[in-house]
Amino acid sequence: MSHNLTRRQFIQASALATGGLLLPAVTETTLAADEIRKIPLHKKIGEAHTICPYCSCGCGLLVATDEKGHITNVEGDPDNPVNRGILCPKAIAVNQLSNSPLRLGKVRYRAPGATEFEEKSWDWAIEQIARRIKQTRDESFVRTVPVGDKNVTVNRTEAMAFLGGAANNSEDCYLATKFARSLGIVYLEHQARL
Ligand code: SF4
Repeated sequence: MSHNLTRRQFIQASALATGGLLLPAVTETTLAADEIRKIPLHKKIGEAHTICPYCSCGCGLLVATDEKGHITNVEGDPDNPVNRGILCPKAIAVNQLSNSPLRLGKVRYRAPGATEFEEKSWDWAIEQIARRIKQTRDESFVRTVPVGDKNVTVNRTEAMAFLGGAANNSEDCYLATKFARSLGIVYLEHQARL
């Protein structure tokens, strides 16, 4: 095997070769959409690398979706050094989380004192979050604190906290940390440590 060929690419190539021998008449162009959905992976529905959203292990997943974005198959990612292709039962059932009719897909807001939720747009929610972060930071920002006979620069706010999660990958966490630190947030945590 070439050094440039990953383990997964090798498996894909082997499966393709075997499939080609056993099913010479079946090609991607002859498959109907229903038939494609029954095929586990490596077909034209595509697959994407992602991270399991459940616990703090951060196992790698290969997720296939149909043309509507619904998950049709989940496998462990053999190239991910955390799990090397192995998954626990929770991750295998991740399509139930993603495709559940109970999953909220819209912003719901309950104003202070109100008893009912209202539906809002994402633009409204993002603007509200930005406004409240700015207001809270402006009202609570501390530039210096006295230490002994000196004032030490701290540039921080203790009125806000930032919480990450196990589903965030390293790149997400890097950006989130930079963002939180740039606001002066000192209470920066991760749900898996709580
Ligand atoms: S596959 Fe299981 S062990 Fe791995 S992150 Fe998901 S829930 Fe945790």
